Amino acid sequence: MDFLANFTDQTFVPGRYFMWSPNTKTITFDERRIGSNNGRLALLHELGHARLGHRIYKYDMELLRMEMEAWDIARNLAPLYGVSINEEHITSTIASYDEWLTKRATCPDCNNFSLQRGRDSYGCFACGAKWVVNWRKDRRVKRTIVSRFTRMSDLSQPTSTANTN
Ligand SMILES: [Zn+2]
Ligand SMILES: [Zn+2]
Repeated sequence: MDFLANFTDQTFVPGRYFMWSPNTKTITFDERRIGSNNGRLALLHELGHARLGHRIYKYDMELLRMEMEAWDIARNLAPLYGVSINEEHITSTIASYDEWLTKRATCPDCNNFSLQRGRDSYGCFACGAKWVVNWRKDRRVKRTIVSRFTRMSDLSQPTSTANTN
């Protein structure tokens, strides 16, 4: 693919989505979309993650920050490679992350927006429920209650088991 040949210092893997993998330092790209402007913009975004050396995040706010930073790089690279910057697309992508993070952090028991305790675990300060989430962005958010009615003082303790990275 011509477009990918622009980036000789980066290894690309054909696939069905766009993703930066910090462990293998490869970028997976969607073969069906790499010919389109938005596909190329998505590739530049992943390239942003790669150039910034982004790793697996631990807290949701880190993820949002990394997303913004990667889009900044994509905005800088786009004019150099004939890609037009689609701000509407960027905004809706960030909004979908925001929505996803909000869903994860919303208490399954009482719908309160709650505190993140670890990469995959949350605690509700209103009702005391604790739950864990699946963390892949491309999956539906699945919240699993792990305990209920715990003491308030437990909530300020970060869990050590969930922080794998
Ligand atoms: Zn990203
Ligand atoms: Zn609750």
